[in-house]
Amino acid sequence: MRIIAIEEHYAAAPGQPGVRLSAAPRPGEVEARLLDLGDARIADMDAAGVDVQVVAHTAPGAQGYPAAGAAALAREENDRLAEAIGRHPDRLAAFAALPTADPAAAAGELERAVRDLGFRGAMVNGTTDGRFLDDRRFWPLLERAEALGVPVYLHPAVPPAAVVDAYYAGLPAGASDLLATTAWGWHIETGLHVLRLVLAGVFDRFPALQVVVGHLGEALPFMLARANAVLSPAATGLERTLAEYVRGNVHLTTSGFFSTAPFLNTLLEVGADRILFAVDYPFSPNQRGVAFLDTLPVSPADRERIAHGNAERLLRL
Ligand code: ZN
Repeated sequence: MRIIAIEEHYAAAPGQPGVRLSAAPRPGEVEARLLDLGDARIADMDAAGVDVQVVAHTAPGAQGYPAAGAAALAREENDRLAEAIGRHPDRLAAFAALPTADPAAAAGELERAVRDLGFRGAMVNGTTDGRFLDDRRFWPLLERAEALGVPVYLHPAVPPAAVVDAYYAGLPAGASDLLATTAWGWHIETGLHVLRLVLAGVFDRFPALQVVVGHLGEALPFMLARANAVLSPAATGLERTLAEYVRGNVHLTTSGFFSTAPFLNTLLEVGADRILFAVDYPFSPNQRGVAFLDTLPVSPADRERIAHGNAERLLRL
């Protein structure tokens, strides 16, 4: 069975532009894997049976670039990534880094990355200047993604400081930090990101636009029944129900979330055509992701869809 993993990370090496974006300290082993886009990464894929990784810069990525100079930095980073994945064209593909602090430049860079570099879409980490992509300033970028037929992957990042202060401060330091990020906060924020896109009317304006979220849908599947009942078209003024947007404009991945109960919840809410395999390498090990994939309580046909079929369709791989 071909296995395509689509939320896989790297980081620019010291002295390269991406380093200005990623300040969070990481264990040495994870750091080394992030920095490698070559033989060690391919060996890690081979050891677990991952055929293709779609890689993107780890958070905050280009969302950490200041507006001035963001376009040039993103271009430089994407060119470097294209060169690296070009050495393993059958094994690696990429999501572009976009200079969202300069939305017009971000739209242009997406088009360049897709048309000239062969990238499969873009990954956007959290907020930019405290704003989600539903803000009208970003609609030219969303319009371009729809026109190009490529998805925008909405990835978590550390929430804005005011949110961290109000919601996550005042606990023991380690607990505060984890609650704000990998245990809770940045996942809930990413689910909120999708809801905001829907409620702003983004998918009425760009009905073919596709976004992707990881971590089994960033809590959206669990909340969908209730949110869908409350946010009816009568209440929102939108053309469709919330559930229809989630089932029509959102794809969800298994990144870093290898538990059967939330998977079944996701499967029941959105169906196997909307779920794609991802590991979140190197923050999660490939072996664990593949073992989960192998034991999913789904039909052989659905396992194939999740492992590679949906990615081949969405990303034209
Ligand atoms: Zn990730």
